[in-house]
This record gives sequence, structure tokens and C-alpha cells, in this order.
Amino acid sequence: MSLWRRLSLFWRLFLPITLLIICSGSLRIWVFLNEERVNQTSTLQHSLEVAAATLQPIIARGAITGDYATVQAQLEREVRLRPYLARAEWRLESGQLVAESPPVQQTVPVWFDRLSGIQAFEISNRVELGGVDYGELILSCNPQRAQSLIWDRVLARVASLGGIILALFALLALILRTSLSALTRLVDASGQFLQDHGTRVIVGGAREIQHLGNAFNAMADEVEATLKALAEAQASVEKEAELNQVTLMSIGEGVITTDAAGLVTQMNPVAEQLTGWSLAEAVGKPLTEVFHIVRETSREVAINPITQRLKGARSTKLGTGLLLISRDGNQTLIEDSAAPIRAENGDIFGYVLVFSDVSEKRALQKKIGWQATHDALTQLPNRSLLADRLKQAVARSDRGQQLMAVGLLDLDEFKPVNDRLGHASGDQLLKLAAGRMLETLRSTDTLARLGGDEFVLVLTDLTSLDEAEAIFQRLLDRLAEPYNLDAEVARVTASLGFTLYPLDQVDPDTLLRHADEAMYTAKHAGRNRYHLFDAQHDQKRQLHQERTTTIGQALSNGQFELFYQPKVDMRQGRVTGFEALARWRHPERGIVSPAEFLPYIEDNDLGSALGRFALETALSQIVDWQRSGHRDWSVAVNIAPHHFTAPDFLDDLRQALSKFPEAPAESLELEIVESAAIADLEHAATVVDACHDLGIRLALDDFGVGYASLSYLKRLPVDILKIDQSFVRDVLDDSGDLAVVEAVIALSNLFGREVVAEGVEQAEQYVLLLRLGCHMAQGYGIARPMPAYAVTSWAADWEPDPAWTVWADNQWEMSDFPLLVAQYDHRRWVQSILQVLDEKHLSPEQQTLIEHHALRLAEWYKNHGQHRYGHLATFREMEPLYAEAHRTGREILRLHREGRLEEAKKQAHHLTDLKIRMLDSIASLQREALRTGGAPKRTKPAV
Ligand code: C2E
Ligand code: CA
Ligand code: CA
Repeated sequence: MSLWRRLSLFWRLFLPITLLIICSGSLRIWVFLNEERVNQTSTLQHSLEVAAATLQPIIARGAITGDYATVQAQLEREVRLRPYLARAEWRLESGQLVAESPPVQQTVPVWFDRLSGIQAFEISNRVELGGVDYGELILSCNPQRAQSLIWDRVLARVASLGGIILALFALLALILRTSLSALTRLVDASGQFLQDHGTRVIVGGAREIQHLGNAFNAMADEVEATLKALAEAQASVEKEAELNQVTLMSIGEGVITTDAAGLVTQMNPVAEQLTGWSLAEAVGKPLTEVFHIVRETSREVAINPITQRLKGARSTKLGTGLLLISRDGNQTLIEDSAAPIRAENGDIFGYVLVFSDVSEKRALQKKIGWQATHDALTQLPNRSLLADRLKQAVARSDRGQQLMAVGLLDLDEFKPVNDRLGHASGDQLLKLAAGRMLETLRSTDTLARLGGDEFVLVLTDLTSLDEAEAIFQRLLDRLAEPYNLDAEVARVTASLGFTLYPLDQVDPDTLLRHADEAMYTAKHAGRNRYHLFDAQHDQKRQLHQERTTTIGQALSNGQFELFYQPKVDMRQGRVTGFEALARWRHPERGIVSPAEFLPYIEDNDLGSALGRFALETALSQIVDWQRSGHRDWSVAVNIAPHHFTAPDFLDDLRQALSKFPEAPAESLELEIVESAAIADLEHAATVVDACHDLGIRLALDDFGVGYASLSYLKRLPVDILKIDQSFVRDVLDDSGDLAVVEAVIALSNLFGREVVAEGVEQAEQYVLLLRLGCHMAQGYGIARPMPAYAVTSWAADWEPDPAWTVWADNQWEMSDFPLLVAQYDHRRWVQSILQVLDEKHLSPEQQTLIEHHALRLAEWYKNHGQHRYGHLATFREMEPLYAEAHRTGREILRLHREGRLEEAKKQAHHLTDLKIRMLDSIASLQREALRTGGAPKRTKPAV
């Protein structure tokens, strides 16, 4: 086997093949030999038989004749001629005749002779003729000839076999040579590769060898790359290790590493110094021996974090307040932490413990702690410590149900002293003041400096307000005493605001804020005094603030919308536009009107926000109406004074306009109140001018209630005056109001301004206003403000009062005015009586109102009416109607008083009926009066 291993490929192939060929060749030769033997033997046999057959008759004849010589000759001849015949003998009883071939030279090797196996043999035949026996003929064969024949043949075969083997040999050698050269190259390359990883083999030879070559090259590539990466990794690991080592040696913290069992493996110089162990001594020692720590306060031995880990703790927190006891007994305050070192698979193979000397840090912390909580100048607690103390004081007050005062004190006139004498003197003064205060206060009180000349006082465990006041007064008195400064003797006083807890039950921050507010009040009240915070007033303010916030949120959440109230031109009987009135659509309360939200936002920026909202909404509404064909409808937007006078009002306006380029500016009107204009008339006038430049018209709202003087009106170029509704409301009842309305109308005519009456509710008011020359009106009498969606259908249904056309184009005569009043009185009188029925009791005002109208109507009928219209039939026909109405009204009131409500209600129908007829009469009286010029025609009876 070992021999086989040592054989080269060639011999491994060649030997077995050769052996196989030899074996099969030998077998074939063997078979061939056997065949030949049988063949040759039978040929010999046959030849002997032929010779016997030839010789027999001759012998017989010779015996008969006795010619023995011939027989002899014949025998010899036969032997001579037939090479396979070795001997021929004729044996008689009497003797014998023999012929023998001369001995033949042996040509076949002896071994082959034996191998071929052809033996010499003889045949004997009786010689007979005619039944007579002439002796016996014995013929012996000579096998040598056959043997050499076979030998020759075998030799030929062996030769051919040898040839085949040779040819095979050559062929194999040829094939192997080519393949082996490729293999040899591979072998060489492999050897070379060890020296040079760049070595690659040239791929050739048989397919398998090509594969092998390719595989080798691929493997070589990989090996080369891997080796390169390995080298790089090693280089970086070495570098890192070096870096780590340097870091470890140079960091300011002590570092000790251990193995998984907690035995020290590494230590840096800081650790060496702090523990008193050298690395060499420490390596292999248990950590607890090298790193000995105790708790700072209790002095009990502390377990180091690695030991904790080893005992199974899952996380080790940073330890603080630990003392490291070094080998020579030195103690160092340290902080430490530990972390396991893990192999990539997560196994822990060691720990690293990091600790540092924190003694200095601690000292610094203490110092910083003091600085952080105290004022450097006065050494008093500062704001942050105060917050602490205040919290504690509140808690103590809560526990003990004790009164506590929180005061904020500010020196009066400190700044001038500081400016005049310089900061050094200022600081001196502050220190002295702080000292005086500390003297005055009780030891349980807290005095803190907030900064500048502001101090906070916290007085705990008070029994009454008086006690606090007494302390504060002493404090103020003491502070007011002269200060002996280096520069001069200075005098300053202080103002103090304070609040009492728990009467003012708020959080500490708010307590301070309240004290601050009270301090400002004290300042405003003349300084050098204290002032107690008014919690109630503050609550109101806070409520106000909260509402403001809620409203602001509602505004930004889109809960606001605009309602529209129509403005009509009574002379033309058409709607000219609308006033936009803000509404808050409250999710729970429904529609909320401006009176409930305006006071909270009017004077702050929310008012401006509402203004912007109103402007944009109105403009978008204008666009809508323009599109639906209502091109002549204007929209008037109310602008709060705060917004109107704000510097960015015009920007807001322009921006709103630019958002709705389709809306003509001419359709927009702005309504401002006098107060917006009066504060800064110059500015107001420029804004109004700017609005005009944009094409927008302006109205002065609520005109008449303010201080508007002629000169204002002259300088403020507004386009429209809106008579305030308070005058319109009572225009029929109050001659003063009537005078104002007339004056405003006259004024607007004078200055060429349009005039609009608002708050017009009664039909007579419209007519009166029309007659007075104010043909623009707005009020519940026409329509209440309505949501945008309702406007167009309202406008489609609306019809102007027919009375307007009647009165529109005629010259008003003041003498006919009482007729209008009479009509109004009658309606109001009936209205009041009917109203009474809905309510249980008559209020004194209702009582007077009813009487007022009844009386004035009666008066008119008797005097002015009789005098002016007495000649007209219509007037005379009114008499019984009037009497009947009067009687029914009184009857209803009586029934009502007696509690007979049902009966009273029945009468009410009758009264309504009478009212209609009466008003009809008054209307025709008016028409008649108009037709006749209103003058009494005493000469001609009325139609
Ligand atoms: P204003 O500008 O004088 O508006 C007229 C007020 O009178 C409206 O009250 C209107 O509903 C009411 N009114 C109209 N006709 C009659 C009437 O015949 N009888 C009576 N008794 N009242 C009538 P509203 O809508 O409650 O608004 C109140 C005030 O709130 C407005 O007075 C206006 O000054 C202010 N306001 C309304 N909307 C806005 C707004 O969008 N912005 C600003 N800044 N103020 C607004
Ligand atoms: Ca208005
Ligand atoms: Ca108004």
C-alpha cells in the first residue's frame, strides 16, 4: 500500500492496465495453447494413420513377395518424407524391419516442450491382406515439429501483445504528459503561493484540471484578501490597544479592570496612586483587597460595584459618598461605577471599575451651592432659595392654620442715588438697608433679595393683620433713616406691598406676584408706605382675564360669525346695505351678543383680531352678494377704537382687501365711534383719508352721545353720521331727543354728510325721521340682525312701508307733527295694555307709560287735533272710535286688576280691532291733511 502511495499517476495508471493486458493475454495464449495441442495431436494421429494406410499394402505385398528390401526402403522413405514420423517398425514373428528418422535438433525450449504437453506416441496396426496376418506395423510420431510450430505461433502472439502494451504505454505517456504539466504548474504555484500570495496559475489542461486551476485561483484570491484584511485588522487592533493603553494611563480617573472572577488584571497610574497598590503587586489579587471602600457617613464597609455584579445585581449604580481607604490608610472621597466587559457573544469576561476623586468637586459644589442660593452682595437668600423657603412657609401655614405675610419691598428713589453716587455707594446702601431689615425682622422671618433694590419678606406665624402691619411699619421707619455712605449721607424710603396667606389662597409664585402688584399700588399711592393686596379685586381681574382667553380661543376656533342688519333708504324704498354685527355662536349657550364679549376684548389685541375677522368675512360676503346680483349692497363693519388707532390698522385693511380682489372697496364701510377719533384727531384724520384713497367710506357711529363738537366734525372727514339709537328711541316722547335728532340732521346737511338713524323700531319714528330729512334708517322696525344665509330671502320678501312714499316727497310742516305723535301714542297705548295681559302684574313704569300715552292722546284730540283737523269729516268720525277704544282699554285694565283675565282677553280682541280702525282714520287724516296742505280749511267743509 505504501508503495502504491508513492507511485506517480503515470505508474498508477500504467501498472494496472499492463497487468490487465498481460493477464488477459496470458489467458488467451493458454487457451490458444490448449487448442493447438489438441489440433496438433489429432493432426499427428491423422498423419500416422495416413502413413499406416499407405504402408500396409506395401508391407503386405512385400511379405507376400518376401521382398523385404523394398519394404525396408519404403519404410525409410516414409520416415524421410514424413517429418512427423519418427520411427516405422514392421514386426513379424520372425523379425522386424525398422526405419528411423535422424534425430532432430531441439528448437523449442524445454520448458515450453513440457508446457505444450504434446507427447510422443505410437500407433500399431495389424497388417492383413486377404484375411492373412502379416505382422504388426508400429508407427511412432515425432512431436517436435508440432511443438516448434506451436512455439512459433505463440511467439507471434506474445509479440503482438507486447506491441499493444508498448503502444498503450506511449499513448498514456502522451496523455499524462499534457495533463501533468498543468498539474505540475498547479503544484509549483501552490509551493510558490506560500512565499508570494500574488501567485496565480495559468489555467490549462483537461477540463477537470482547468476547474482545479480556477478553484485554486479563486481560493488564492480569497486567501490573499483575507490575509490582507487580517493584517489591517491586526494593525488597527494594535493601534487601538496602544491608544487604550495611553488613554488608560493618562485619564484622570482611576481605572481597575478585573477578570470575570473579580481578580485584578489591569490598573492605571491614578488607580495605583489612590489605592496605594502598584500594578505589579495588585495583578491577580481579589478586587476587594486592592479597592477598599467605606461609606462616608456610616463608615461601614461598602460593597464595590463589581462585587455587587458578581453577586448577581443586575445594574450597578454610581456610588456616591464613598471613601476609598488606600493601602497606607489615606482616605479619598470617590464616586465609582462599574461595567462588565463582554465578549461578542455576550459572555462576561471581565469588569472595568472607574472611580474618581471627588473631594474637590464636593468642595466646589458646596461653594456653588451657596452662591446658587444666596445673593453675593447682601448674603441674603436669593430668588431660588426664597422659592424653597416660601414653599416651606406655605406648608407650615397650612399645617398650623397660621397667618403668613409675603411682602415685596422696593426702595424708592434708589436709582437716582445709584446714578449720582456710583455703584459702589449703591451697593453700600443696599447692604446697609439689608442689615437694617434683618435687625427689624424676627429670627423666624425670611428676607431675600430678588435683585436690584427689590427684597422679599416672608413673615410666618402671625396672629393678625395688625401684627404684620406693625412689623412693616417699623421696617419702613427704620429704612427711612439717613444712611451714612462714604460719599454722602443719603435718604431713601421704601414701598412695600404684601399679601396674606391663606386669605389669599394661591400658589407661592402668585403670592409674590400679588405682593408685587400691591407694592406698585403703594408706589402709586405716594411711596414710603405699605399696601395690602386686594384679593377680591384680583379675582375679578383674573375672571376678566379668563373670559378674554376663552373669547380669544373661540375667535380662533371659528366660533364667531357676522349677522347682518339691513339699512334702507326710505325715500327710495330700497335696501342699500347692511351693518355687520359680530355674534359668538357658543357651543352651549347659542348666540351670544357683543355686549357679552366686547368688554373683554375691545381694548386689547383681540379687538383687532375681531376687526380683521369682521373685515375679511364682510368682504367675502360682499363678493357673494356681488355674484348673486346685489351689486348695490354695501356692508358696514364696526371697528373698535383700539384697532382703529393701532399702527397696523391700515395694513390689516389692505391685506383684507387684497385677499378679496373681487370685492369693490366702495361696497365697504367702516363704523368708528368718536372716542377712536378724538384721542388723536390728526392720526384719525390721516387714517380716514387713507381709507378714502382706498375707496372706503367711513361712518361716525353713535353720533350725539360723545363730545363731538363742530370743530371735530370739520376736521374729521367722515362720510356718514349715525344718530345714536338712544335719541331715536324716544324721539316721539322726548322733545330733548327730538331736538338732538333734528340738530344732527341739520349738522350733517351743513357738512354735506349722509345721516343714518339707527335703532328705529316704531313705524312713526320712520315717518318722523323721513319728514325731518333723514331718509336712511336701520332698526328692528325693518329687521333685526340676521345670519348671512337669511339675508337674500328676507330682502326678496321685504316691502317698504307705504306710508313712506306718501310722506316722502312732501314738505314737512312741523304743525302736522302732533298727528304723527297721536298715531304713535295710540299704538303705544294699545300695545302697553295688551302687554299687560301677558304679564301678571303691572309694573309702575307700565302704569305711567299707559297713562302718558293716554293723556297725551286725549290732550291732542281735545286741543291741537280739534283745532287743526276739526273741520275734517275724518277727524269727526274718529270721535266715537276714540271714545270706545278708551273705554275698552280702561275696562281691560280693570278686569286685569280684578284678576278676571279671561274676560280681559276677550276685550283685548275688541281693542285690537278698534286700534286698526283708529289708525286707519289717522292715516287718512294725514293724507287729507297733506292734500289740503295741512292748513285748516274753515271755509270749505272737508271731503
Ligand atoms: P352699534 O354699532 O351701535 O350697533 C347697533 C346695535 O344696535 C346692534 O347691537 C344692533 O343689534 C342694535 N340694534 C339695531 N337696531 C335696533 C333697534 O331697533 N332697537 C334696539 N334696541 N337695538 C337695535 P349689537 O349687535 O348687540 O351690537 C352692539 C354693539 O357691539 C354695536 O353697536 C357695536 O358697537 C358693537 N359691535 C358689534 N359688532 C361689532 C364688531 O364686529 N366689531 C366691533 N368692534 N364692535 C362691534
Ligand atoms: Ca355700528
Ligand atoms: Ca351705533
